[in-house]
Amino acid sequence: MMDIMYSSTRNAGEKVTASKAVLQGLADDGGLYVPDRLPELDLGFRDMVSMDYRQIAYEVMKLFLTDYTKDELMHCINSAYDSKFDTEEIAPLSYADGAYYLELFHGATIAFKDMALSILPYLMTTAAKKNQLKEEIVILTATSGDTGKAAMAGFADVEGTRIVVFYPKNGVSAVQEKQMVTQKGKNVKVIGIRGNFDDAQTGVKKMFSDQELKKELKEHGFVFSSANSINIGRLVPQIVYYVYAYVNLLKNGKIQEGDEINVVVPTGNFGNILAAYYAKNLGLPIHKLICASNENKVLYDFFQSGIYDRNREFVLTSSPSMDILISSNLERLIYIISECDSEKNRELMSKLTETGVYEITSGMKEKLADFYGGYASEEMTAKKIRDLYGKTGYVIDTHTAVASAVYETYKADSEDERVSVIASTASPYKFARSVMTSIDSSYQDLDDFTLIDELCKISKVEVPKAVEEIRQAPVLHDTVCEKDEMQMMVRGFLGI
Ligand SMILES: *Cc1c(COP(=O)(O)O)cnc(C)c1O
Repeated sequence: MMDIMYSSTRNAGEKVTASKAVLQGLADDGGLYVPDRLPELDLGFRDMVSMDYRQIAYEVMKLFLTDYTKDELMHCINSAYDSKFDTEEIAPLSYADGAYYLELFHGATIAFKDMALSILPYLMTTAAKKNQLKEEIVILTATSGDTGKAAMAGFADVEGTRIVVFYPKNGVSAVQEKQMVTQKGKNVKVIGIRGNFDDAQTGVKKMFSDQELKKELKEHGFVFSSANSINIGRLVPQIVYYVYAYVNLLKNGKIQEGDEINVVVPTGNFGNILAAYYAKNLGLPIHKLICASNENKVLYDFFQSGIYDRNREFVLTSSPSMDILISSNLERLIYIISECDSEKNRELMSKLTETGVYEITSGMKEKLADFYGGYASEEMTAKKIRDLYGKTGYVIDTHTAVASAVYETYKADSEDERVSVIASTASPYKFARSVMTSIDSSYQDLDDFTLIDELCKISKVEVPKAVEEIRQAPVLHDTVCEKDEMQMMVRGFLGI
């Protein structure tokens, strides 16, 4: 089999190996790396029922990361998916009120970002060795709350790397912020910015495509990479759990081989749902990819109209990890539906940068039939948490509740009774205040850690280690900057 090569969504010319794409993160022209063809699984789902998460991860990841040897890939997988997760299953399915919740929050920082960020450091250091990289890798990360902590947990004190995280100072939950500002490690830096996630992401992308800065860094022995889902090394590990969930349903007799399922994904930067789309292209029988947005419903409007329009008010919601108006990974989908026309894609993306709006052709829109876009208001989200808890005792977080509410709307609209899997992207403990006040508004007077203890009482789920750790932990980072000072901060940290 020929290696899969990666090229930029904005320039089909230059092609790099998977390991180089992982190292670079973003292409020099500001585009995202995409595989030159989408592979297919070479095993049947029945053949996988006796496999554990790690074995299935290998079967999926080897198809995309073709220049990693089997030993290299197995080393990465085995180092990532171990006792850092609080369950041997890694990503268990829970059934509640007519849907399966794929719990992706059993890792070190209790959000789904752990699924990919526990392996990315290994993929990256392996890639550095393979490519005889001499420079120290500087991971620049913009976070809407969860990526930052998960990336630092993975990269803290990893030889040959440093990591800088930018988060929106007033746009994350109390637990999210405390998790980040208490992060230990000689090579980590956490900075709050006076701006929102889009500002953070735009600032980071700008530094990536600044060729002058890149040259200067190189002279000082540094090279940038990314831990955001713009990195293909983030995306590929996220494909695994969709295949794993299907195999699990098959093993437990909930579906027959070949049966189609729906997947519902609470969406922000479009990374998780794009991984589900890649899974469908691998041969996973997915009927609808249900893209759930919160009140920042730019994607819902896009699926309705074919117009992407970020010119609107940015809303701070109870699902902050989805408070995003520029969904980076949508670019990879736009590239595919334009029949891999990098010229066309580049044109649309420059319209987005210049005017904040672009419109796809009707031909492109037809290729979006696999997707259903929906959104949930703040009221619908809170009601979903309350109702599901009332009916079943199962407590979900606000992001998962957005997905669950959208699924309810979809089911009513479509009368589609297929088995459906909802990506459950965070532990309710991470958003305890919003979750508890959704269930009963009288909780609002309690402080954050008392709410956590109350959540434990009502959900009967043990308080995760990640939360216990931060109760008493000292704050180690208190830097705050303006959005146009991001580059200065990075220079300061690197001493250049
Ligand atoms: C990041 C995140 C999302 C959004 O995922 P994308 O891949 O950015 O679409 C949803 N829920 C939680 C809890 C997250 O951390």
